[in-house]
Amino acid sequence: MAKSTDPPAPAARTKRRQPQEYYDEVKQKFSEERELRLGYRPEGTDQFTSELTGSLAKYSIDPYAKDPSPREPLSDTVECLFIGGGFSALLTSARLREKGVESIRIVERGGDVGGTWYWNRYPGVACDVVAYDYLPLLDEMGYVPKDHYAKGSEILAHCQAIANKYGLYELAVFETTVTSTIWDEDEEMWKIETDRGDRMKARFVICANGTLSKPKLAKIDGMDSFSGHSFHTSRWDYEYTGADLSKLDDKVVGIIGTGASAVQAIPRLGAAAKELYVFQRTPSSVDIKKDWPTDPEWAAKLEPGWQGRRRARALAPPEFTPEQKAKIAAIPREEKIRRQENANIDAMMRIHRHIDETVEDPQTAEALKPWYMFMCKRPCFDNDYLPAYNRPNVHLVDTRGKGITQIEQTGPRFEGQLYPLDLLIYATGFEVQKTGIYNQIRGKGGLDLGDKYRDGIRTVLGIHTAGYPNFFIMGGYQASFRFNLTDVLQTQGDHIADCIDYARSNGHHAIDVTNEAEEWWVQEVIANRGKTSRSTDCTPGYYNFEGEFQRRQDGNYNGSYPEYIAHTKAVFGRIEEHFSLGPDRAASR
Ligand code: NDP
Repeated sequence: MAKSTDPPAPAARTKRRQPQEYYDEVKQKFSEERELRLGYRPEGTDQFTSELTGSLAKYSIDPYAKDPSPREPLSDTVECLFIGGGFSALLTSARLREKGVESIRIVERGGDVGGTWYWNRYPGVACDVVAYDYLPLLDEMGYVPKDHYAKGSEILAHCQAIANKYGLYELAVFETTVTSTIWDEDEEMWKIETDRGDRMKARFVICANGTLSKPKLAKIDGMDSFSGHSFHTSRWDYEYTGADLSKLDDKVVGIIGTGASAVQAIPRLGAAAKELYVFQRTPSSVDIKKDWPTDPEWAAKLEPGWQGRRRARALAPPEFTPEQKAKIAAIPREEKIRRQENANIDAMMRIHRHIDETVEDPQTAEALKPWYMFMCKRPCFDNDYLPAYNRPNVHLVDTRGKGITQIEQTGPRFEGQLYPLDLLIYATGFEVQKTGIYNQIRGKGGLDLGDKYRDGIRTVLGIHTAGYPNFFIMGGYQASFRFNLTDVLQTQGDHIADCIDYARSNGHHAIDVTNEAEEWWVQEVIANRGKTSRSTDCTPGYYNFEGEFQRRQDGNYNGSYPEYIAHTKAVFGRIEEHFSLGPDRAASR
């Protein structure tokens, strides 16, 4: 049975078996659709920009805290400094506080804690991971989410509640972007500079800037010439739209992109705008969202520690009898892959049938059908998305993989047709899992982290990188990937808090992972990537670097999540072996 933290299955498996030729034909169509898209955008990830400066600077401005509150620059020294104030920082600083670390600072670009949930406030924003799993520290906070799936506002409020409970607000500076993080070898301290003139020092730095934080835009000819209003989904301009979107009732609105953000925003925009044009390049797979209010009786019966036990249950391996194990082991690997693929195709075809049953116009229904394997793109869940296309004011402009390539003064043009708009919304996503956004990181010998990674990312567990002592990365590549990201962040946060506690308790000024340990992990990542051709067979998207050829270590660790946890425990368990540890207390006296 699927566990609650697994990716929600898009559909019940169809009972009726199709002949293998049927599956082969569908796979052939998947492949053609993929090739079509790759042909249109050979530039891969370069088709996007997240350098939002000059005329694009307006797309990164914080609409929720427009005028930074004045303050004096900081020049003090703290023990632990977090770059970013989202879940990574909240979880880890809460753990550090539990271990008696008091000298902590959180430096956050936004005007409050919350990270993703601070920035993404577009209408309909919600998390499609079950709330009892996604929201961290529920036991500690004594909180039970209101619904099976939490809305963005509830998650942001939970982040604020964590910050209040653990006294993190007094440690935080907001509307402040870290611009450089440089290791001072003589002092064995990090020197941190910000865009607010701060010159701080910290013994430990935790790079907690999130996995999908920096908005990105497709590079489209003529973007600058558009004279209407425009913004990115993560910088929603409620002043323009009205808090309830009522100011859109006389506006013609366009939205570029149909990923997870757009899928949640489109139904609400469709209900509010005079006209809505959806510019689609690749459809998302959108399944039914089974949501319900939390049963108060169930919530009242929850015993302390319930979330921890729930998480442990979800991570426990499935139990098989010896006969079942033998049966599974006897199936050849190719056959297992074939069965998995066929099941995925069944699931995607069920999504196609759901579209046919819901969307009235057959041409629109056809255009909304995703032709790729389940999980090639983030699966979406929204019960209002498909019905939105039955509204007379909602128009799907299907670019059939090509995308919008031209924008003029009044709006986008596609295949000769101009779409004049009052408002253009970019739902084009985010830069992915980059360490050190907005921030230059220099370790031992002044080596820039970008230069170190030039021939491939090198870390241990995606957390430590040699030559960058007392520096920890959260949410970056070479760590495990989970549909429920907070699972990974909790594992990483606990490990980082343990490492810092160990260094403090044993009087080590600096702990730096060894080159040998780093090489071991890089090889581990390589060995677990590319076991199947799944990633390269997928339609382009950020999961597979837009179909670009990739160095095999530049991505997530693809071993199982329990294996990742076991490795994390083993690395900490043999910390003396995996790290060079600075002078101990006795030596430094
Ligand atoms: P995505 O990167 O998923 O989507 C970007 C969209 O823009 C794609 O549909 C892409 O098409 C489209 N696009 C890019 N360029 C063009 C162009 N020139 N013309 C037309 N379309 C274009 O970004 P999102 O913000 O939607 O989602 C990012 C991630 O955030 C999700 O994958 C998910 O991890 C997370 N998220 C999670 C939610 C949750 O419930 N937990 C909710 C919302 C987001 P194409 O597919 O062809 O590249």
